[in-house]
Amino acid sequence: MKIANISGRAHLLIDGQALDVAEASGGEFGPSLQSLYDDFAAFVAAAPSWSRDGLTAFSTNELGSPAPQPRQVFAIGLNYHGHAEEAGLPVPQVPATFTKFPSSLGGPFEPVPRMGETLDWEVEIVAVISREAYRVSEADAWGYIAGLAVGQDYSERTMQFAAGSQFSLGKSYLGFGPVGPWLTTLDEVSDRDNLHLECWINEDKVQDAPSTDMVFSIPSLIAQLSAVTPLWPGDVIFTGTPAGVGITAQPARFLQVGDVVRSTIGELGTIHNTIVAP
Ligand code: ZN
Repeated sequence: MKIANISGRAHLLIDGQALDVAEASGGEFGPSLQSLYDDFAAFVAAAPSWSRDGLTAFSTNELGSPAPQPRQVFAIGLNYHGHAEEAGLPVPQVPATFTKFPSSLGGPFEPVPRMGETLDWEVEIVAVISREAYRVSEADAWGYIAGLAVGQDYSERTMQFAAGSQFSLGKSYLGFGPVGPWLTTLDEVSDRDNLHLECWINEDKVQDAPSTDMVFSIPSLIAQLSAVTPLWPGDVIFTGTPAGVGITAQPARFLQVGDVVRSTIGELGTIHNTIVAP
């Protein structure tokens, strides 16, 4: 399934059209996206039986984050070998975990304000939790994931490093966490262990890597995070970015007003954001 947030209401996307979940289910699920994750197994079981009569066209401008109200947002630093290498830093022994505060989450095509001189990009696979996960084994971890989406972990590098090793503030300006274009459930991902991440700034391809370069795989992240803290339905995990960010380019490159950042991950789709004046 493809689960979309259209104007704040949960929809299924079917053949390029959208089905309002609350209407199709007679009010049993939705309209909020979070309500789907709160009872995800029942939602997945029920959805195939709903009438498709209510399918309607939609505009991509209406899309919001498919997981807009997480109780927790986890983000992982230095989780690709290539990125750790370009940063000149050793590969972490445990996931280098910070947060993007939930207010930073945005829709897949929303503009991103240039909040400083050193705004950088990081394409990332975003995983959304489908049921409470506490002390989950790596072998079982995929069973706790509702699906995957494309995310951008926008980072104002000066603010990020001004706070020492506490990255969260520089990554949490309004709009710094676009996710989408929708959530793709795992049954529609042909190889969840090998996704292809790409990012362009205007016409320049800046990131291009397989997720097999991850230091900690998505199941490993679920296991290690849930060993410490319960993960709740609808929680969001930014799983790290591959090589090719601006701060380590020679010379360093940062985003300018008018730049368009386009991020694609295999079957998960494409998001894009125009950089705007704050
Ligand atoms: Zn990141």
